[in-house]
Amino acid sequence: MPGFQTRAIHAGEIDPVLGAVTLPTFSSATYESGGETRYDDVRYIRLNNTPNHRVLHAKLAELEGAEAALVTGSGMSAITTALLSVLKAGDHLLAQRMLYGGTHSFVTRDLERWGIEHDLIDADDPDSWKAKLRPNTRAVYVESLTNPLVTIGALDQVAPFAREHGLVSLIDSTFATPVNFRPIEHGFDLVLHSATKYLNGHGDIVAGAVIGATERVDAITHDLNHLGGSLNPQACALLHRGLRTLGLRMRQHDANGLALARFLEEHPAVERVHYPGLESHPDHARAKAWFSGCGGVLSFELRGGVEVADQVLKHVRLPAVAPSLGSVESLITRPATTSHSGIDPELRRALGVPDELIRVACGVEDAEDLVADFEQAIAKAAGG
Ligand SMILES: *Cc1c(COP(=O)(O)O)cnc(C)c1O
Repeated sequence: MPGFQTRAIHAGEIDPVLGAVTLPTFSSATYESGGETRYDDVRYIRLNNTPNHRVLHAKLAELEGAEAALVTGSGMSAITTALLSVLKAGDHLLAQRMLYGGTHSFVTRDLERWGIEHDLIDADDPDSWKAKLRPNTRAVYVESLTNPLVTIGALDQVAPFAREHGLVSLIDSTFATPVNFRPIEHGFDLVLHSATKYLNGHGDIVAGAVIGATERVDAITHDLNHLGGSLNPQACALLHRGLRTLGLRMRQHDANGLALARFLEEHPAVERVHYPGLESHPDHARAKAWFSGCGGVLSFELRGGVEVADQVLKHVRLPAVAPSLGSVESLITRPATTSHSGIDPELRRALGVPDELIRVACGVEDAEDLVADFEQAIAKAAGG
């Protein structure tokens, strides 16, 4: 099989259209009827079957090592459509405790309205999962790397557990990307992405993806066709362009994450660094066994609390103070004021997210420049 970057560029591509070497953007909402009889086959942007959609689907499937893929209007559209497709009223879902904020509130607050129950599980402790099973349990949902502590659960145990108990296994692999971790190879049924992040990589669209066996992806496509969360062709074209450099960009994100984590770990003003690429991280052995890199996201705690943390945010020059991740430019946030602001401060601390925690999403700048920027910002912050 060709290497990752070769597939990122060539997989799924169609013959040149009117000689155009690069896939044109097909903005047509509707297409001449070709005798299609099934609703899902009628060619129309909302039905996710324009040439731009089809090329993306084939490329994503090949990169994850799956049969089929579907792009969606956002990461949350991928997640909610997949869950609502797999689950029906009366079903029960097991979901990892530490989840992306939007997913966490969808699972814990919204699903109930569709008559779907849930329990949260500790992804680190597979022995505890069986006790949470109910006769109506239908699916298990985890993330490959969590936010903001960048932990890795017992991912090798999820698919065997799901198979033993007849569950569908889903994983949000946004933080890992198929460059660093391929869940299908570990037996997962469905891989979900916020393609807003690394897959597009340039911070200029929101998009999502659902990847897995043809039968499952077809069923989810049918539901997306009704729910309407389609990705428009212009965003498809941007995602297509971003995907073609995914392997190159991830190499730099991985290198920057590791370089900055190593620098921070040695710094006397830093209390703790969370990055599984570090030997000191509790999930380092899992990272080494299953991942080829740990991405660009890390978090750390400084001595001196919230005031010093805010000074670092004020003095860094390269990262923008903004949520999100996976773009070419670095971003920095204090999760207590962004992604985790809705959680009670006591509970937040119990979850391992103290108010002073800083999260960095390294872009693809030169590692030396990122490290130097944090060095000067921490010196200024610690100096008053
Ligand atoms: C951003 C993100 C999402 C949501 O994706 P959107 O594209 O913003 O809808 C879901 N999961 C993870 C892990 C994310 O980082």
